[in-house]
Amino acid sequence: MNLYVHVPFCVSKCRYCAFHSETGASAEALAAFPRLIGREGALRAPGARPTTLYLGGGTPSSLGPDGLRALAAALPALADGAEFTVELNPADVDAPLAEALRAAGVTRVSLGAQTFDPAALRFLGRRHTVADTLAAASALRHAGFDNVSLDLIAAVPGCCGASFRRSLVQAIALEPRHLSVYALTVEEGTPLAADVRAGRVKMPADDETLDALAEAEAALARAGYARYEISNYALPGFECRHNLAVWHGEDYIGLGPAAASRLGLVRRTNAPDLSAWASALDAGRPPPADEESLSPEDDEHERFVTGFRLAAGVRPNPATATGRARLAVCEKLTSQGLLAALPGGAYALTPRGREVADAVMAEL
Ligand code: SF4
Repeated sequence: MNLYVHVPFCVSKCRYCAFHSETGASAEALAAFPRLIGREGALRAPGARPTTLYLGGGTPSSLGPDGLRALAAALPALADGAEFTVELNPADVDAPLAEALRAAGVTRVSLGAQTFDPAALRFLGRRHTVADTLAAASALRHAGFDNVSLDLIAAVPGCCGASFRRSLVQAIALEPRHLSVYALTVEEGTPLAADVRAGRVKMPADDETLDALAEAEAALARAGYARYEISNYALPGFECRHNLAVWHGEDYIGLGPAAASRLGLVRRTNAPDLSAWASALDAGRPPPADEESLSPEDDEHERFVTGFRLAAGVRPNPATATGRARLAVCEKLTSQGLLAALPGGAYALTPRGREVADAVMAEL
């Protein structure tokens, strides 16, 4: 099984962020978190030996070396050869933290570089600097981490074009094994959304955003990275196993406030409420969560559509009525240049299809 832990703490809130996280958590809340995650793991996943473990957030690295050690110790023992990923803010990474991650059995780190343009970092409200990213990459390399992923954000207002191209060059120069490249999106309820609505910020035009993403694909392909998912690139053999499992429709269990789980037909999302989550677990109860059960047909269809995120695509089964209906939609989308027919009967998004992936998936 695959295990995800949402660490709901951040030192400060970025301008564009809609993820659940709290700033200014008390020392007690931070210290209690590993113990409570251990308790939730025992309730939600008794006897589990995860093959992938992903610590995301929020900012897992804000727990510091001791907190991360305690969190790893509170989680179930991993299966042999498991992938253990931790998301890191470059501002938190130094030699002691990198060493603590190694000692805790972390096999893969995801560094939230986002951009190498100081002006873009300031626009985004990130608390790290370009120098922090370079120092973090160096500390991780010295600690022996080979499997490092970098996150990059395209389409930052005022920092498109040459600025983004320079960020790509600097990211590639650090020789990560994996990169995730996202366009900046305006999420409701964020300070960025308020600024856009009030006219204080003008987002780049769609064409500019699509050009940046196409430029990323071309530059990364030249450097040997394959785009194996809409937003994710890897050198051969360095695809993120945890995310691949999720996109392939495998079960996963999420622990922590706001964490989502998929268990067979059941979809569960913990309430995004740190204190309700902690009080329930302190009292020995599972934390509050929304839960829904899908029909086998809806579950199968969700897996079918999600599969289109991957470069390998999806093969409709022509032996069933549903498969034939899907085939007809795939052929229509192929005639529109949004899907491509692959050898063996599978269909995958074309470059144009990736640009409008949400609309393609809605059509499917
Ligand atoms: S560090 Fe990550 S989770 Fe925290 S506010 Fe920034 S984008 Fe959101």
